[in-house]
Amino acid sequence: MARAHNFSAGPAALPVEALEQAQRELVEYKDSGMSLLESSHRGKDYEAVHNEAAANIRELLGLGDEHAVLFLQGGASAQFAMAPMNLLTPGTTADYVNSGAWGAKALKEAQLIGKVNVAADCSKEIPTRVPTERELKLTPGAAYVHITSNETIGGAQWKTFPKTDAPLVADMSSDILSRPFDAGAFGLIYAGAQKNLGPAGVTLVVIRRDLAERAPATVPAIFRYRAHLAENSLYNTPPCFCVYMVALVTRWIKKMGPANLYRRNREKAAKLYAAIDGSGFYRGTARPECRSDMNVTFRLPSEALEDRFVKEAEKAGLKGLNGHRSVGGARASIYNAFPVEGVDALISFMRDFEKRNV
Ligand SMILES: *Cc1c(COP(=O)(O)O)cnc(C)c1O
Repeated sequence: MARAHNFSAGPAALPVEALEQAQRELVEYKDSGMSLLESSHRGKDYEAVHNEAAANIRELLGLGDEHAVLFLQGGASAQFAMAPMNLLTPGTTADYVNSGAWGAKALKEAQLIGKVNVAADCSKEIPTRVPTERELKLTPGAAYVHITSNETIGGAQWKTFPKTDAPLVADMSSDILSRPFDAGAFGLIYAGAQKNLGPAGVTLVVIRRDLAERAPATVPAIFRYRAHLAENSLYNTPPCFCVYMVALVTRWIKKMGPANLYRRNREKAAKLYAAIDGSGFYRGTARPECRSDMNVTFRLPSEALEDRFVKEAEKAGLKGLNGHRSVGGARASIYNAFPVEGVDALISFMRDFEKRNV
């Protein structure tokens, strides 16, 4: 077996252990006589998987009874719409932080639903960054404050989260479960699974139960958090196999130990940034104080070199290093499941490439 080092921003590398477990159980799940892909979402086999996935998330995030865990569909993009549909009620204002491509998309969707205040905008700045807490111009009595915990494209990450009077809402698609934080302090957290949690097709939503009650009655049931909450995310057929993969990935995180995983994530990022900073050839694109531990973005001296770098890396088994099509450059996405050896392989490739091209 020759698995490449997969630096893709998403869908992204999954733990090999989880893939192998899924392979073993694919054709016949336990003693059920069928694949989980073929099983009823109301049957006992799937029910156990569904509840394990939610329980693992609860445990890893340290959630109490006031928060519910939901598995929804439509990706983080659906949450850009669903959050304001449910929480931005008539007569209220939501504060949005525009810190880059994803923050901007969330903001644009909210503007379709209700009144929005841009609490800070550093989306066009290079080097990329997220704002400081002091910069935020918050609305007294706001419905909520929306942030993007990690800007996947720009490579900027909130290192500590702002304290807000209004409920804090965060798109954590690209750094959920990658580091310790106080999840209980958030009103709503959402994350497409395909970066840190599992395959594409399921979205994790963590919501304070009282906030799920806010949606106006005119919001269709499928888009209402409380409809999903009332049915334990079985209001309609959930993406069963994706939830199963989330159960396997979170089982893997628990086994590795979240503290070990967080340490490993920091080490991987620190090594890579040190290699970038130590060369006069590569240049990081985010401000050092808010560099992402998940998406390491950097440039080379010219676009032609960037192009060659990505192509040659690909041939060397280092895949998916191209920056997002909207910004170019190079990006190494090193999520939870990405191994340390892959980072070491990239660093030695970078040194070699530099020598050949200075
Ligand atoms: C990938 C990503 C999205 C988009 O997720 P979809 O599942 O494709 O809708 C949104 N926000 C962030 C921060 C992301 O990294």
